Amino acid sequence: MNPFIYTRPADTGAAIKSLSRGNQAFFLAGGTNLVDMMKMGVVVPEKIVDINRLPLRNIEAVQSGLRLGALATNSEVADHPDVLKNYPLLSLAINAGASPQLRNMATVGGNLLQRTRCPYFFDLTMPCNKRAPGSGCGALAGFNRMHALFGASDKCIAVNPSDMSVALAALDAVVHVRGAGGDREIKFEDFHRLPGDEPQLDNTLAKGELIMAVDLPPSAFTKHVHYLKVRDRSSYAFALISVAVALDLDKDNNIKDVRLAMGGVAHKPWRLRASEDFLKGRSATEDNFKQAAQIAMQGAKAYQYNQFKLKLAPNTILQALKTASGQV
Ligand code: SF4
Repeated sequence: MNPFIYTRPADTGAAIKSLSRGNQAFFLAGGTNLVDMMKMGVVVPEKIVDINRLPLRNIEAVQSGLRLGALATNSEVADHPDVLKNYPLLSLAINAGASPQLRNMATVGGNLLQRTRCPYFFDLTMPCNKRAPGSGCGALAGFNRMHALFGASDKCIAVNPSDMSVALAALDAVVHVRGAGGDREIKFEDFHRLPGDEPQLDNTLAKGELIMAVDLPPSAFTKHVHYLKVRDRSSYAFALISVAVALDLDKDNNIKDVRLAMGGVAHKPWRLRASEDFLKGRSATEDNFKQAAQIAMQGAKAYQYNQFKLKLAPNTILQALKTASGQV
């Protein structure tokens, strides 16, 4: 392992200042992704800024909803009474990811920043524009079974691996960040980015910006929710396809409001806006769900080894909608 500077500041100002002074400088929280990448040589830091002493672990009710501190662990969020009561979709999504041990270490902020699990990203002998910009993409003509259906580019076809982020996208979360220039809010949908010509950039954070918290706005989606994750084994695997569904149904089973997002299909959590627009005001029937699932697939593009996702994705959407509405 290469030598690096390690600092452990006690306040956010010092942490931001310390990070912005380093070239290959990284914030360290739970370390469940960063430390792996360091061991494999995918990331070679010059400086690690350990933020675990910062007071960012609270989960608290605020005027705008529920605030999840950036250092709250995935387990603390998933098990929190307010999350279980008002945002059960988030709890389901978090518990679909990783293992109990990892969820006890991984943090809210770290979950948003975890990097793709594309195998070529981790293989230093292969080209990868995300790891080494300009080197090419090993997955384009390689084994691209896990890769994207939407929003990819000829530079990168990787997908975002987070389950938690799929639920946060569906719940219209807001990310609070702090940098040298002050504080700002980022709508969750704008936090992660598509690869375009710069796949090395996963998100819209400016250099040195620190995630402070994620806010969940008040939610009517307390009952008819489901997170369905399809993967190669029943636990501790990344999604081939995942679907987050939240329905607000009236007494006649009509859809007052709906949120839909997919994971495992794009460089960012993929919100299914057109399907939501189709479903709003319609009744919660299997036929309408099927049509919504087909609408979601418009613009999908598969590669050599992930053609199966073109069928798996709408089937997963349909099953998730049926489960959330109590039809299975
Ligand atoms: Fe790298 Fe992206 Fe290509 Fe994977 S898909 S090899 S992460 S550039």
